[in-house]
Amino acid sequence: MPARMDKIMEIAQKYDIPVIEDAAESLGSTLNGRQTGTFGKFSVLSFNGNKIITTSGGGALLSDDEALIAKARFLATQARDQAPHYQHSHVGYNYRMSNILAGVGRGQMEVLQQRVDKKREIFQWYEQLFARINEKGYNVMFQTERVGAISNRWLTCILIHPDENNGINREQVRLALEESNIESRPLWKPMHLQPVFEKYPFYGSSISEKLFENGLCLPSGTAMGNDEFERIGDILNEVFQ
Ligand SMILES: *Cc1c(COP(=O)(O)O)cnc(C)c1O
Repeated sequence: MPARMDKIMEIAQKYDIPVIEDAAESLGSTLNGRQTGTFGKFSVLSFNGNKIITTSGGGALLSDDEALIAKARFLATQARDQAPHYQHSHVGYNYRMSNILAGVGRGQMEVLQQRVDKKREIFQWYEQLFARINEKGYNVMFQTERVGAISNRWLTCILIHPDENNGINREQVRLALEESNIESRPLWKPMHLQPVFEKYPFYGSSISEKLFENGLCLPSGTAMGNDEFERIGDILNEVFQ
């Protein structure tokens, strides 16, 4: 789901803050007709195995600043000085993608729109299912598209507030699916709740905590078909009777 990049860039420009855009999940989404990953000074994409298109691992760094891209490329390819031997005036890294995986990625770019279409179809299937469930008096919620935004719907997630759903909570739904060997997952645990960051200060409200508590990521793989939808539908209809 595209963030409010137009507003973020407005503020960033006002205060001269360089923006690095994390578009790892949103490849194929647009805001006012513009692809996410094209707003920031830099943007990062992930082609990890779970993303909408994949090279099994790795990602890409995007920018329209040629000098900064040249610098990034230099640092990502071991920061070698011009010399017949290995010589380094800077500390470099080995962050480049292999040419084999890059080839896979270029092929995947050609099916990106097909993947987005399928992901949106999966979302609509869940949307219709929960519209019928909500007619029975429940209130299961989805993330909606803001005006001007088109989401790739990479992952369909729902919010289940127990006080609006006859006491049913996220965990009951997750466990019911798990009983049939179907994996679903809570939404992401906020950084400030991660044990590794426990002792650091935290600024903000409790929105991310509530999303973690009540949110569930549903099976959304593009290989899903009618059989899978039916199995999931049967279980969800049983939980929300
Ligand atoms: C997957 C993901 C990452 C990490 O990408 P990797 O290629 O696994 O390192 C970062 N940010 C977001 C939002 C992601 O979804």
